[in-house]
Amino acid sequence: MTAPITDFIYEGLPHRVVFGRGRRLQVSDELARLGCRSPMIICTPEQRSMAQTVAAPLGETAQIFSEATMHTPLGVTEKALAAVASHGVDCLIAIGGGSAIGLAKAIALRTDLPQIAIPTTYAGSEVTPILGETSEGEKRTQKTLKVLPEVVIYDVDLTMSLPVAFSVTSGINALAHAVEALYAQDGNPIIALIAEQGITAMVESLPVLVKNPLDVDARLKAQYGAWLCGTCLGSIGMALHHKVCHVLGGTFDLPHASTHAVILPHALAYTAPAITPAIQVLQRVLKSEQPWVALHALNVELGAPTSLESIGMPRDGIEKAVQLILKNAYKNPRPLEEVALTGMLERAYAGAVPVSE
Ligand code: NAD
Repeated sequence: MTAPITDFIYEGLPHRVVFGRGRRLQVSDELARLGCRSPMIICTPEQRSMAQTVAAPLGETAQIFSEATMHTPLGVTEKALAAVASHGVDCLIAIGGGSAIGLAKAIALRTDLPQIAIPTTYAGSEVTPILGETSEGEKRTQKTLKVLPEVVIYDVDLTMSLPVAFSVTSGINALAHAVEALYAQDGNPIIALIAEQGITAMVESLPVLVKNPLDVDARLKAQYGAWLCGTCLGSIGMALHHKVCHVLGGTFDLPHASTHAVILPHALAYTAPAITPAIQVLQRVLKSEQPWVALHALNVELGAPTSLESIGMPRDGIEKAVQLILKNAYKNPRPLEEVALTGMLERAYAGAVPVSE
């Protein structure tokens, strides 16, 4: 028996998605569709050569800005804005993960330039109207259609080089979007369907990728799952899990995807008593009575980090983190309680099996 139908609002996001092997070669067609000729290609320093292969067919007007970095610090955005202004740029092409895409969004927010996103991780930022920016040690997030990329090109070939360990944590980052979508206060039946399919695609593909990172079918399924999970993140509000990850990432500069991998089982365990219908879906998809324990076991199976300590969280940061989580808290089906949150973070710090109480 499926869940009863209740009132809902569904709002589709205005963007074009091009999915398939070799589709990066279509970027000049997409530029022409947008009526643009002078793009700036945004990437991290590590992906400059990948950006050059996309830039090469676009001619001399294509500029590359390769200083994108995690959590979109304001200083880098200001430098990129100066480069955009001095080169007469009329379109932004982000190639890379959430860091490159985040910088393009931050520029688009301030310039209204159109964006083409070519994601190479599973983080999902390319299909969201969300931008997180960091300044003075705090990460602030805003939601506005001004930052939603007009075009997304998914080309599986660009994900083949994604290291296994990062493929796993990035895939779990995607999974987290879909898990939280199952109990979002502004959820709807379409997003619930997308979430279940997204979780299934990630859970089926990641174990295969760990064994053979060059398995194209598994890479295609993971990228498809990433799109579905990202669509969940872009369409409805997230809850405790995403708040915790934003706080920990912005405050302690923890690696984004690994933080999601560590926190997801614990945040789900915390919220579980208040979200019975979502837990029923997860029990079905993850084939476990306690989906939060199954997610922890999945981390172990895939070799993902399971403790905050192992990814650089300072032990004495837990109290500060709890205070920041409680400040401007996201809506969560189970209310946020200081003592319970502290216990949750202590377990996550130690890498313990999550407990739902
Ligand atoms: P990332 O973009 O920082 O990439 C991590 C590293 O992997 C980088 O060095 C990058 O160059 C490298 N890399 C990426 N793709 C590669 C590939 N195919 N082959 C080899 N190396 C590759 O990591 P991420 O997890 O994708 O993004 C994290 C950032 O994105 C954070 O700042 C996070 O807040 C943001 N984010 C935002 C949203 C949103 O909707 N606004 C969603 C998810 C993540």
